[in-house]
Amino acid sequence: MPAPRHLLAIQGLSPPEITALLDLAEAYALLNRSGKTQRDLLRGRTLINLFFEDSTRTRTSFELAGKRLGADVINMSVSTSSVNKGETLIDTAVTLNAMNCDLLVVRHNQSGAPALLARKVDAAVINAGDGTHEHPTQALLDALTIRRHRGTLEGLVVAICGDIAHSRVARSNIYLLTTLGARVRLVGPPTLMPAAISELGVEIFHEMPLGLKDADIVMMLRLQRERMAAGLVPSAREFRHFYGLDAQTLGFAKPDALVMHPGPMNRGVEIDSAVADDPARSLIAEQVEMGVAVRMAVLDTLARRSTRNV
Ligand code: ASP
Repeated sequence: MPAPRHLLAIQGLSPPEITALLDLAEAYALLNRSGKTQRDLLRGRTLINLFFEDSTRTRTSFELAGKRLGADVINMSVSTSSVNKGETLIDTAVTLNAMNCDLLVVRHNQSGAPALLARKVDAAVINAGDGTHEHPTQALLDALTIRRHRGTLEGLVVAICGDIAHSRVARSNIYLLTTLGARVRLVGPPTLMPAAISELGVEIFHEMPLGLKDADIVMMLRLQRERMAAGLVPSAREFRHFYGLDAQTLGFAKPDALVMHPGPMNRGVEIDSAVADDPARSLIAEQVEMGVAVRMAVLDTLARRSTRNV
């Protein structure tokens, strides 16, 4: 089977495919720290960041990654508020196709939108987060960050906590972590736990002390109120009381457990500043750094596979 032309999801990637991306990203992480760039690699190639949903860190990260590899980068933010989304998407695809773009990074509030675009354009499409479906580069950067600290993912206990139901980050992480041999626990209230999620080979917990017991990694998720039907969570205060991470709650995990969060954080809701900003325990800043390296690896890999002649 030929290597995939797009990166639409983690689901379906094999361990060697994931490991190859992580190894390349590791090399880019070292290059970035050395202050050097690789501006010849994507010279003459065009990357379009097509964001139908707000983003600061992911868009900037793809922009930096593209520029560090020498691509011409264009940012497009498209409002979906007043238009028929399906029609706009196809129209946009046809327009971009006519512009001969090479790499198309897409974020959309509807699950499946990047896959739809991928069927309509010649460019390599990268899913930068679609609805509640997947956010593949986030899972890759999380895995790279963990691997740098623990050497491997195999056998680690990773507790993913909070608003699982609305989180594409959780879904991509479940696929990636279980594929590479980690044990994944989901911890959150029943109202924020998707039905049938245990079929993905994870353990479900509704209480932080039990879910965090012996965890190596505690990954907190944002409470995504913008995607939530009313009434799923009583109040931010109550959520914090039962599911927020502070130094005391972190004490239920392994003594050297590390803390992650994909951002943006609701400080004082799902995570307290005391743990988020603790350099001995928090990997949050490093996740952002690894994001650029992972996106460079993805752009590099897909550009090499591209059949478009430049
Ligand atoms: N930035 C992540 C995403 O786009 C997580 C979040 O928004 O809470 O899915």
